[in-house]
Amino acid sequence: MSLVEIRKYMQQALFYERLEDMKVKCLLCPHECLLSEGKIGVCRVRKNISGELYALNDGIISSANLDPIEKKPLYHFYPGSLIFSIGSYGCNMHCRFCQNWEISQPTDNIFSLRPIVPASEIIKAALNHKENIGIAYTYNEPIVSYEYVIKMATLAKEKGLKNVMVSNGFINQEPLLRILPLIDAWNIDLKAFDESFYKRLTGAQLAPVLETLKTVRKSKAHLEITTLVIPNENDEASKFKKMVNWLADELGEDTILHLSRYFPRYHHQSTITPAHKLVEFYNIARQRLYWTYVGNIELDIGNNSICPKCKNIVVWRKGYHTAAKGLDESGNCRFCKTSLPFVV
Ligand code: SF4
Repeated sequence: MSLVEIRKYMQQALFYERLEDMKVKCLLCPHECLLSEGKIGVCRVRKNISGELYALNDGIISSANLDPIEKKPLYHFYPGSLIFSIGSYGCNMHCRFCQNWEISQPTDNIFSLRPIVPASEIIKAALNHKENIGIAYTYNEPIVSYEYVIKMATLAKEKGLKNVMVSNGFINQEPLLRILPLIDAWNIDLKAFDESFYKRLTGAQLAPVLETLKTVRKSKAHLEITTLVIPNENDEASKFKKMVNWLADELGEDTILHLSRYFPRYHHQSTITPAHKLVEFYNIARQRLYWTYVGNIELDIGNNSICPKCKNIVVWRKGYHTAAKGLDESGNCRFCKTSLPFVV
């Protein structure tokens, strides 16, 4: 293909620098991959073609489903609603315990086999579901589909749909600031409060993720955080307590935290997180973060949302069944009128 044809048929990346000798430097995420001609970035989906950087996964969809919003997980953003959820391929982390590795770690030839779906087609499909509130960019890491998400989120906003990002938060500040006004809600993984964990098990770094959390929290977007609790990797109570204190001090005590049970996947074969560990972490988190939940397991704690003042259940949950009968039309407690951190 000539460069003219490449430019016509492929999506050029938004944040990169052209360098000498046909090299490029990608500026989308903190890896800042320096790529010679023909080379692909750490995310496996951005390639230097003839001295320009292209998104190989643009418009390539791995799955699309109408999901309960609680599955993202988002518990305080339109509780009980459904959201059209799409995924692509690629990730800028290489978590050894990845729960979606089949799509996050693609092989190079996967892209030639898949049809390209224009953003407008996704919007049409999303609008076909009457009860759908918007589009969630999820399943794999949406940051590495940056240009496609920008296109789609812009169209979605025009149609009155909400945009949700389910992300690892590993993005540079400039592209983050550009995408922020388009995104209504984020769920961001905070995988551990430990640089060595990030380096050893994800191939990335913790510090930029913390910066992302602070930036998103300062914005108008809704934010919830998820931590997968992995036996012998991030289940030390003292480190977890530090994480909870950081979240409460830096983001506020009304920060919403989801603790998720780990199951062995991909290159990481540990035991399943024992229920007692999740209960222990739940109790630690609740000392500072009232809105803590436990997922991927059925326990009799960490499911419902309870008004901190009158102690009535405002949102009841069992699995993905949700009833938000205790919230008024502004997301406050229907019983005692206390202002609560819900978007409805
Ligand atoms: S988005 Fe991909 S190519 Fe760009 S810096 Fe991150 S890992 Fe490298």
